[in-house]
Amino acid sequence: TSPTAAPAPPTDTHCPYCSLQCGMRLGVGEGTKAEVLERPDFPVNRGALCGKGRSAPALLARDVRLTGPLLRDRPGGPLRAAGWPEALDRVADGLAQTREQHGPDAVGVFGGGGLTNEKAYLLGKFARVVLRTANIDYNGRFCMSSAAAAHRKAFGLDRGLPFPLDDIPRTGCLILVGGNPAETMPPAVRYFRELRENGGRLIVVDPRRTRTAELADLHLQPRPGGDLALALGLLHLVIADGLVDKDFVAERTTGFEAAREAAMAHWPDRVERITGVPAHQLREAARLFGTAATGMVLTARGPEQQSKGTDTVGAWIDLCLATGNSGRPYAGYGCLTGQGNGQGGREHGQKADQLPGYRSIEDPAARAHVAGVWGVQAESIPGPGKSAYELLDDLGRPDGVRALLLAGSNPAVSAPNAGHVTERLRALDLLVVADLVLSETARLADVVLPVTQWAEEDGTTTNLEGRVILRRRAFDPPEGVRSELWVLRELAARLGVATGFPVDAEEAFDELRRASAGGDADYAGISYRRIAAEDGVFWPCPAEDHPGTRRLFLDRYATPDGRARFAAVTHRPAGEEPDEAYPLYLTTGRVLAQYQSGAQTRRVAELTEAAPGPFVELHPRLAERLGVADGEPVAVTSRRGRAVAPARITGAIRADTVFMPFHWPGAGRANSLTNPALDPVSRMPEFKVCAVRVERAEQE
Ligand code: SF4
Repeated sequence: TSPTAAPAPPTDTHCPYCSLQCGMRLGVGEGTKAEVLERPDFPVNRGALCGKGRSAPALLARDVRLTGPLLRDRPGGPLRAAGWPEALDRVADGLAQTREQHGPDAVGVFGGGGLTNEKAYLLGKFARVVLRTANIDYNGRFCMSSAAAAHRKAFGLDRGLPFPLDDIPRTGCLILVGGNPAETMPPAVRYFRELRENGGRLIVVDPRRTRTAELADLHLQPRPGGDLALALGLLHLVIADGLVDKDFVAERTTGFEAAREAAMAHWPDRVERITGVPAHQLREAARLFGTAATGMVLTARGPEQQSKGTDTVGAWIDLCLATGNSGRPYAGYGCLTGQGNGQGGREHGQKADQLPGYRSIEDPAARAHVAGVWGVQAESIPGPGKSAYELLDDLGRPDGVRALLLAGSNPAVSAPNAGHVTERLRALDLLVVADLVLSETARLADVVLPVTQWAEEDGTTTNLEGRVILRRRAFDPPEGVRSELWVLRELAARLGVATGFPVDAEEAFDELRRASAGGDADYAGISYRRIAAEDGVFWPCPAEDHPGTRRLFLDRYATPDGRARFAAVTHRPAGEEPDEAYPLYLTTGRVLAQYQSGAQTRRVAELTEAAPGPFVELHPRLAERLGVADGEPVAVTSRRGRAVAPARITGAIRADTVFMPFHWPGAGRANSLTNPALDPVSRMPEFKVCAVRVERAEQE
C-alpha cells in the first residue's frame, strides 16, 4: 500500500502546522516513540519551534486518530468500521449516481490549505478530469484570498511575501496590520526583534494589545473594520507632508492621481472618527513610515477577513507604492499566510477559478497548456465554480452540490455562520471526509477515510515566503491508513480513469512541475533533489539551472506594462455595524497553543492543558456594565447564533469590542456568530467584524 518504506531515523522534515513551516528533525525516543530533535541548520527558524511543533508527534499515536474507514448505513445511523474496498466502492458509486441524476456540478470537492502541493494538485485534477465538476474550492478562501486578490491587482502576481523573511530585520519601519505572530508563529518573532535591535521601528495595528503589539514602538488600536480608513489616513498624511517618492511613482506605477484623490478625502480627524485612532498617533505613524529609508507593510487575517478585504489590502499597498517602498530590497508589501501550505495550496488548482501554475481557469492558453499535461481536451475542463462559502451555503439544495468530497478541512467549526453550514452539510445526499482524525465535520459524514499525515509521507509545501520545502516520510503509517494520493487513484480507477493519478509523491510533483511551467507560480526547475540540497527553492524557478527567486519585482512587476497599479479605494463600513440590538463589535482570532479548527491540537494533551477552551475577552468597563466577573460565563449573540464561554477581563481590548478564539466546537463555537458577508472580489467572508450583544449567562 505504501510506495516506499520509511527511512531510518533521524529524518529532516518540517512542522505540520503553520505557514512558517519550521524545520525539525524527527527521531525515535524512549519506547520507540517519535520525538522532535532540533534542526538548527534550517534558516527560517534556526532550530526554534513553538509548542505546537514540538508536540506534533503526539498526533502519530493510534489512540487520537483514525485507523480504518468508517461508514454510515442509513441517515442518522451510527458510523461503523469498514474495509477499504467497501468504503471506496460506496464513495465511487455515490459520486457516480449523483453525477448521473443531477449532473457533474452536483458533485463538489472541498480541499484544504494544509494539503501538500502534490495532494492539492491531484485533488484539482481529480475534480476536473474525473468528476468533471466546476465546484471545487478550499478553506484557503477563508484564509488569505483577499491579500491574494489585492496582490494580483497591484502587482500582477501573488506570492505572500515577495521577499524572504530575513529582509524584515533590515527594513527601516514595518507596519504589521492585524497579525499576531507572537501567538501564531512564535519563532518568527525574532525577525521583528532583530528589526528593532537594528534601529528599525515597528508599528502594530490591532484592536487588541496583543503580545505582538507589546513589542511595538507604536500600537494603533482601531475599531474592527477600521483598517482601510487607517491606511487611507496614512496615505493622506504622507501626501500632505510631501513624503511621496515622485520618481518611483512616475517610473514604476500607474494610477497615483486617483489614489491621491481618494486619500485626500480621508483627513486625520475624519479617520479618527471612523477608526477611533487618535489623529496624533496617525501623524506619528505617517512620520515614522514616510521618513524611513525603507519601509514594509505586512498584513494578516485582521484586515483581510473583511467584506472589503481586497480594498483594504489595496490601500496598504498604495501606501507602500506612494512612498517607493516596493520593488527594492528590504521594502515592500507582504502577507503573513496562515495555514501550513496556504501559499502552495492556492497555486495548484484547488481554487474554483484557477488551474495549476496559478493560472486563470478562464484563460484559453492556460487551459490548453494544462489540458496538454493532463492528456484531455481543453474544452472538457470545466469553467470557474462557486467559492467556498457559496458552495457550502448551497449544499443539498436542488441546484447545489448534493455529494461532497472533503479533504483537510473542518468547516463545521471553521466556516463562518458555522451553525448554518453544519445544517447544510447534514442536507447532503453523500458526505465523504478524508482526515487523520474524527473531526466535527467527519462526524457528520457518510464515509470517513483515514489518511496519512506529515511524518508518514513525502510531500512538498510552500511556505509564506514562496520557499518550496520538502517534508520527508519518517515513519510508516498505521495499518489501515492510506495517503490521499492512493485514495484519488483508487477512486479515479473506479470512476473509469485508469491512469494519471500517481501514488508516489515525487512522481506527482514532477507532473505538477510540468503543469506549472510558464505559469505565475512556475515550479519547472524545482526538484526533490534540489529542495533537499538547498534548504528549499523560491518560485518562480523556470529551469533546473535557475537559482529561484528570493525577491520579486526588482526590475518590473508582473503586469502587462510592468508597472504596479494603485488601487485607489475609499472607506466603507463593515457588512454589519453595531446598533441598538447588537451594540458591540466581535472580532475572532487564535491562541498560541491551538491551531485552526483545533481538530488536531485539541487532541494533544499538553496543548489542551495550555489552552483548554474558548473565552470571551472584554474590557473592564464593559464587564462592570454587564456585572460580569472574570471567569464567569457570558453569552454572545449575533444575528446568526449564540455562543457561551467564560469572560476574560482585560484592558488590552477596546471597550466597544469583544474577542473570541475560534478553535473550539460546541457551545463556545465563535463561528456560530460570524458574518458570511463576502468580499465582492476575493469572496472572503467577514470573519473579523460583526455586531453582537453580550450578557451574563448562567453556567451552561
Ligand atoms: Fe510549527 Fe508554525 Fe510553530 Fe513553527 S511556528 S513550530 S511551523 S506551528
